[in-house]
Amino acid sequence: MPTHAPWPGGIAVVDIASGPRPAVSIAGKPVLVVETSAGYRAIIGIPLDQSVDDPLRIEISQGDSRESKSIELRDTNYHVQRLTVDRKYVNPGEAALQRIGEERKLIDAALNNWRVQPLSDVVFRSPADGARSSSFGSRRIFNDQPRSPHKGMDISAAAGSPITVPLNAIVALTGDFYFNGNTVILDHGQGLISLYCHLKEIAVANGDVVQAGDILGTVGATGRVTGAHLHFATYLNGTAVDPALLLDVP
Ligand SMILES: [Zn+2]
Repeated sequence: MPTHAPWPGGIAVVDIASGPRPAVSIAGKPVLVVETSAGYRAIIGIPLDQSVDDPLRIEISQGDSRESKSIELRDTNYHVQRLTVDRKYVNPGEAALQRIGEERKLIDAALNNWRVQPLSDVVFRSPADGARSSSFGSRRIFNDQPRSPHKGMDISAAAGSPITVPLNAIVALTGDFYFNGNTVILDHGQGLISLYCHLKEIAVANGDVVQAGDILGTVGATGRVTGAHLHFATYLNGTAVDPALLLDVP
């Protein structure tokens, strides 16, 4: 179970007393709730662009009671990353921009999906062996031009190394996308989603039911990369959270 990590890109953990099953939401989006021995626990993704000057507000309804709760946030220090890539990934042409826009819609829909699924365990096994970057949240500058922050963890491994499913899931989306290259998105239920990018080969198809330990594909260097690695990203309530907070061995 993740621990309380109250900063942008982190995870807020809120315990809720036993009783009827609560519905929890943030900014109108439903939030993952697991049952514990003492009641329930809400596991909330905190947006990377959330201001730390204001508390995070969540709504809890349980039976007839409605409660609004504030969670104090603290700042964290994300680095700056400078990378050099093929210029087509920094200044895409007209046709590429159209393709990127269409892909964005598919990817966003998969990352924001809500699927009713009881969950007792929200801990991921590592999807690949290799050194992990701590670059989640880094502000990135590609070929001297600022781009959106890094929303995942990079695991370095040789091309062809296996990538395994870290927690039971349904395959939500597979495809060859402009920036992400060969990609798999897994839906673990209740808005917990994981994303795997730059694959050499994809070994699953949309709608497949996969179990922890199954092979979903192999590490590659497709899309906007500087070399072979796995880009592994995790999402809660539609927002990217640091995968290190969800791994069994952080
Ligand atoms: Zn990455």
